[in-house]
Amino acid sequence: MDGTGSKVAADVRAPADGARAGDAPAASPQPSTGHGTHGGALQERPFVNQRDPARRLGPDGRPAVSRRAPLWADVPDEQWDDWRWQLSHRINALEELEQVLNLTEDEREGLSAPDKFRVDITPYFASLIDPDDPNDPIRRQVIPTGRELRAFTGMMEDSLAEDRHSPVPGLVHRYPDRVLMLVTTQCASYCRYCTRARIVGDPSQNFNRREHEAQLDYIRRTPQIRDVLISGGDALTLAPKLLEQVIRGLREIPHVEIIRIGSRVPVFLPQRVDDELCDMLAKYHPIWLNIHVNHPNEITPELARACDRLTRAGVPLGNQSVLLAGVNDCVHVQRDLVQKLVEIRVRPYYLYQCDLVEGAGHFRTPVGKGLEIMEGLRGHTSGYAVPTYMIDAPGGGGKIPVMPNYLISYSDHKVVLRNYEGYITTYEEPTEYTPHDKSKCWYCQHQRPEPGQKGVSALLDGDAMWIEPAGFVEIHTRGATEDHRLKDPSKWVPLGVGPIEGRPVRPALGGGEPEATQDGPARGSYGPGEEPRPAPGEPNGTANHELL
Ligand SMILES: *Cc1c(COP(=O)(O)O)cnc(C)c1O
Ligand code: SF4
Repeated sequence: MDGTGSKVAADVRAPADGARAGDAPAASPQPSTGHGTHGGALQERPFVNQRDPARRLGPDGRPAVSRRAPLWADVPDEQWDDWRWQLSHRINALEELEQVLNLTEDEREGLSAPDKFRVDITPYFASLIDPDDPNDPIRRQVIPTGRELRAFTGMMEDSLAEDRHSPVPGLVHRYPDRVLMLVTTQCASYCRYCTRARIVGDPSQNFNRREHEAQLDYIRRTPQIRDVLISGGDALTLAPKLLEQVIRGLREIPHVEIIRIGSRVPVFLPQRVDDELCDMLAKYHPIWLNIHVNHPNEITPELARACDRLTRAGVPLGNQSVLLAGVNDCVHVQRDLVQKLVEIRVRPYYLYQCDLVEGAGHFRTPVGKGLEIMEGLRGHTSGYAVPTYMIDAPGGGGKIPVMPNYLISYSDHKVVLRNYEGYITTYEEPTEYTPHDKSKCWYCQHQRPEPGQKGVSALLDGDAMWIEPAGFVEIHTRGATEDHRLKDPSKWVPLGVGPIEGRPVRPALGGGEPEATQDGPARGSYGPGEEPRPAPGEPNGTANHELL
């Protein structure tokens, strides 16, 4: 777009421009007339936008790359950057993982369990883990531990009752106007907390062309479906031809307005987001795509370039995160995450409460944690960066936002919610939750200061005990300013605690005068159940209308 052919500019553009450089209407490099001098300068010196994460350069002047574990140091770049190489070199066995990470006893136990949920990690994603930190947030998402094997209260195999809402295998029709289409059970890597662990990962249980046809057929025969969400597993792990067949099949159905893809491939395997994929998607617009990032460490130059390619192909991007204990159950981690997401032009869409799924017990947080995070985002950062906090209703009521219209009640172990249809469900809170340790959290220790503006967040994280509203000392009404009743206690009559100091009290029952004593107000005598109250005409709690 700058029209120069300098070496640096070409390198910077190489990873993302590709075949689509000519798609967009050519932006004019010429500033409008009247800025002639600046125009000249602009043309001489190409502007390298280092602030754009997709354009960032490494120390060698080439596009920035993330860390590579020593095990793969000698793999040639062409192989490393090839998604097929990444997929076929995924690691899963204890002996392989040992060469990349210093495994803990807990991890050895998890990896040795016979019936565990599938383990598989791309070399790219495994390289992002700090090999010596057992609490590394990426590590906790993909390496099993012994804790994974423990059951918990409320645990269910199919917690969202997806199987009950499937008219044909792999198609979940829960909402009136949209369906979820599971096109594969395979993923690029496997998340320990996966909601669909019951079907995901098993290669012998995959969906194929026949299931896709049955799913498409149902959608063809169901004209109220206007929105199809393609997921899995991970749709972007399908063979490119097969994926295109599915998308084209959907596009040929006139009542399908939008197609959405939910995919963690840009995070696990950004190499897959190549020009071929983007060109294919661009043929079938409108297509939207949600990625799945849980922690800022996952936002690498590779992910930034993958997202840049997708947005240039006209695919709007959102992000869905899962709230996970020990990974992102921290206001400051979440704030950094959503801000980095908008930097790569990804709009945070949903923050999910962890589902009641087998193997995920140790990831669960109380609902109060999610509410605290939302309190720390809204207003504290750009509105674009604030997702909606959702609980996917146990029993299959769909996703419910955790907010007043939908949050019906709350006890020390259960949350009661209703969905858009009026279906009422409960979410069982975890019984074991280790609160986030602020003293060990880099993000808590390096938070952006908000002097005097922390608001309710300051109360929630324990720094403050109360906030006095601005009207607490003075109440400003139209035309007059009144003191708050607590500023001058003489205007304030506590009910049931005695007569007003220095004022005569009501005569005792039976007509006798109460006696005033030297050192205090006179005490009247009252009948059983009768309270001392100001007599008619005496100032009382509503004298200044405060109680009204
Ligand atoms: C998540 C989901 C959708 C899409 O829900 P939105 O709130 O529109 O993003 C549709 N169908 C099913 C079964 C889902 O789980
Ligand atoms: S990518 Fe999605 S479907 Fe695959 S394991 Fe992770 S959460 Fe489950």
